[in-house]
Amino acid sequence: MSDQRPVITQATKVALAKPKSDYKPAHVSPSKRAGRRYTIRLWSVRHARSLEWFYARFADLFLMLHPLWKAVGYSRAEAPVKFVERRVKGLMFDCRMCGQCVLSSTGMSCPMNCPKQLRNGPCGGVRANGNCEVEPDMPCVWVQAWAGSQRMRNHDAILTVQKPVDQSLRETSAWLRVTAAAAAGRAKSDEAAR
Ligand code: SF4
Repeated sequence: MSDQRPVITQATKVALAKPKSDYKPAHVSPSKRAGRRYTIRLWSVRHARSLEWFYARFADLFLMLHPLWKAVGYSRAEAPVKFVERRVKGLMFDCRMCGQCVLSSTGMSCPMNCPKQLRNGPCGGVRANGNCEVEPDMPCVWVQAWAGSQRMRNHDAILTVQKPVDQSLRETSAWLRVTAAAAAGRAKSDEAAR
């Protein structure tokens, strides 16, 4: 007769060795506690359409301020703008300051929160409940990205293939980079029109 005893893995041994506690915070289930970490991020995805509108106005305003950024110097403006960008986008999108923002293509769901940092759609491991394979309590950022993008005016932008992340741009301001690129594009078309 073969030995049918279950195999005890290292993970099970660690779980069994953990000190037991009767402490349970009142009125908050473990899944609710885990879910709270993503509340604002998920709110942003649900409001992707209005945030898309707001972002477009915000980008216009930043472009209008191009003479100011130029006068101050883009490199000198970097530190204060980055300070604000990190806090605002950190709160709303759990931004990781990759410096090459794609939120307007990804339904306001930041792909840098994917543990595999995939920039072009989910891996094959999305759970049946739409959560991440690596972090089971976290909604897959790409499932959220698809949902958010379908709410946006420019909902096909998610189909654009993104370039690999340029690590040299980490910890830089995407707001200023986009503004400088838009200002250069505008100057070029003004020149061509003359
Ligand atoms: S894509 Fe990059 S810049 Fe945009 S929110 Fe995510 S980490 Fe921040």
